[in-house]
Amino acid sequence: MGKTGKVVMFMGVGKPLEEHSFPLPEELEPGAILVKTTMATVCGSDMHSWRGRRPFPTPSILGHEGLGTIAQMGSGVEKDTTGKSLAVGDRITWAIMANCGYCCFCRIHSLPQKCLNLFKYGHVKSDVPPYFMGTFGEYVYVKPGTSVFKVPDDMADEEVSPLMCAAATVTAGLARIGLQPGENVVIQGAGMLGLYAAALAKEQGAKQVIMVDILDKRLEVGREFGADHCLNVQGLGDEEVVSQVKDLTDGWGADLVVEVAGFAQVIPVGVKMLRIGGRYLLQGSVYPDDLFTLASHDVIIKCLTIMGLHNYDSRYLGLALDLVHRSRQRYPYRKLTGPEFPLTAAGVTAALESLEKRESIRPIVVP
Ligand SMILES: [Zn+2]
Ligand SMILES: [Zn+2]
Repeated sequence: MGKTGKVVMFMGVGKPLEEHSFPLPEELEPGAILVKTTMATVCGSDMHSWRGRRPFPTPSILGHEGLGTIAQMGSGVEKDTTGKSLAVGDRITWAIMANCGYCCFCRIHSLPQKCLNLFKYGHVKSDVPPYFMGTFGEYVYVKPGTSVFKVPDDMADEEVSPLMCAAATVTAGLARIGLQPGENVVIQGAGMLGLYAAALAKEQGAKQVIMVDILDKRLEVGREFGADHCLNVQGLGDEEVVSQVKDLTDGWGADLVVEVAGFAQVIPVGVKMLRIGGRYLLQGSVYPDDLFTLASHDVIIKCLTIMGLHNYDSRYLGLALDLVHRSRQRYPYRKLTGPEFPLTAAGVTAALESLEKRESIRPIVVP
């Protein structure tokens, strides 16, 4: 019998996670890469899938953040997506998805994450070959059509693992909403996405980042990630919050508001914080029952732009990797991750629980 690799599988809502071993592929299809996982991190959406907040295929291997070293390469794999040569043993990370490159969303609408033939890591039934479809496993089968990025030697695994979902998503959002140097940016939510958004907005020229949350503990971390002002809005009325934002922006209001709180109730006050002609990016409140009510009057009279963005175009994983690499002396990215859990059913369960109880924002799973 050939070599096998261990994975932790999600068997369905309310059922315990299970450890399984599957055979490694003997030969890879052209363009595929077999990665030996060195680290995975747990995203909030893993936890929500596990708890049944959305329909999800099972049995599956969760995990869509991680990195590893190349164990085997299919024919035709010579370079990463930026043109760096690849060899067995190289450390890489890769996009959350594989897309076909020829459908209308890939070719015309610039939304490859909505590809008609989309495949997403950590989101598929995984008891069929090639099995290794999520990062909570000793190996990941990186499919052809996936953008792959070689990781600089001087970056720690902890600095890289969450780029694949969290950092790439906010990087794409800031690009799509058109962050301009010198702008005042309000970030609603000092969680994983919010902390990356703060640091990456500053890194790309934001004049001021104003971070809004309801927990001082989270806001304190925000300061370390580039937030110039941290507003605890617990118990404050909308008018008071808006007047604080206006005080910080010479009376104008924010150029840009980014919702990464994951609570749709914060959206109406976000609209009120914007200046005339301001732009609003929605990325956090992604679940089907996240509802809000807006005065269309405010949107029209103030000539606002409201934009949603889900996942990302792969180029933004490359950009996130560059931005985090060059700013990692200024922002303590490593502090975002941990503690560490082993790749066992009990270990991954404990990691998911630690995220759920807000004991950590990015638990680590290590094979
Ligand atoms: Zn995620
Ligand atoms: Zn496509």
